[in-house]
Amino acid sequence: MRKITKIAVLTSGGDAPGMNPCIRAVVRTAIYNKLEVVGIRQGYQGLIDNNMYEMNTRSVSNILNLGGTILKTARCLPFRTDEGMETAYNNIKAQGIDGIVVIGGDGTFTGALRFSQRFPDIAVMGVPGTIDNDLYGSTYTLGFDTATNTVIEAIDKIRDTADAHDRLFFIEVMGRDSGAIALRAGISCGAEAILLPERATAIDDLIESLKAGQFNKKSSSIVIVAEGDKSGGVYDLAERVRGQVKFYDIKVTILGHLQRGGSPSAFDRILGSRLGFAAVNALIAGKSQMMVGLEANHIKLTTLEEALTQHQFKLEDDLMQMSEILSI
Ligand code: ATP
Repeated sequence: MRKITKIAVLTSGGDAPGMNPCIRAVVRTAIYNKLEVVGIRQGYQGLIDNNMYEMNTRSVSNILNLGGTILKTARCLPFRTDEGMETAYNNIKAQGIDGIVVIGGDGTFTGALRFSQRFPDIAVMGVPGTIDNDLYGSTYTLGFDTATNTVIEAIDKIRDTADAHDRLFFIEVMGRDSGAIALRAGISCGAEAILLPERATAIDDLIESLKAGQFNKKSSSIVIVAEGDKSGGVYDLAERVRGQVKFYDIKVTILGHLQRGGSPSAFDRILGSRLGFAAVNALIAGKSQMMVGLEANHIKLTTLEEALTQHQFKLEDDLMQMSEILSI
């Protein structure tokens, strides 16, 4: 069995609330187990630039409540090249690192898997850190809960003004190709319609349901549009509806990057702690090329290969159907 004496931790891709609690757990679990631990700044870019520092128990004091990531993150093109990976490998070897915890989304895992297939003497362990909740092998990814709560708080405020003015709001939320945030936020805010990338949008049906809402004396309407929705963008959608729905004043809001920020929720702090703890224990147990996730409230290891090939978010038809009924 491979013996791990020194590990590194990095965050990569889009930042997500909960990354800091996870970094804290990685560092302290490593030190508890008498491993040395190194923080890599700016994701894979830090591996290439040798931008690393030794961490101790105090390096991660008072970060549980912080959004973002104290290690910074980056989207790093050179890591996709053979030369970039080789430079990273040489820097890792020079530091005596034998295992890396990578916290990120599917792109980060693709990089980790390619790297470790090429250099199998370095063990890699993935932690799903993305607000998109789009990875196979974990019911929840780090940041999804906090981001959804942030979206809900914003939409509740928009609902107040929508109601006061008899307005219809089209609100775009994040999630890339996944409608996970849109669906949960839609249920939580009583959205009149939720448009998701996983489902083709029938404009005629949307207009009919808005008309039915007006007939039922609704004083406002909220349509949540996932950013990956394929009906041509939120402004275009609003224009097409404007021509046929005269009873509401129509407005558009794109929530944007505020969805990534903020102090992690209790759920994400606990999830980050559990996944970070489990990731280090898995490395110590000799595992590599895997992702730690949470399924049915238990830690589960999934191969990176499987997490990546089956990562498509499946539309939860039952939730969608319930949301449509509850918003009549
Ligand atoms: P999020 O889901 O929040 O966007 P992500 O991890 O999917 O997070 P990406 O920007 O797609 O974010 O990927 C993060 C980094 O992983 C990239 O900047 C790049 O350095 C590395 N990466 C992505 N794909 C590959 C690949 N095919 N080969 C090597 N490295 C890759």
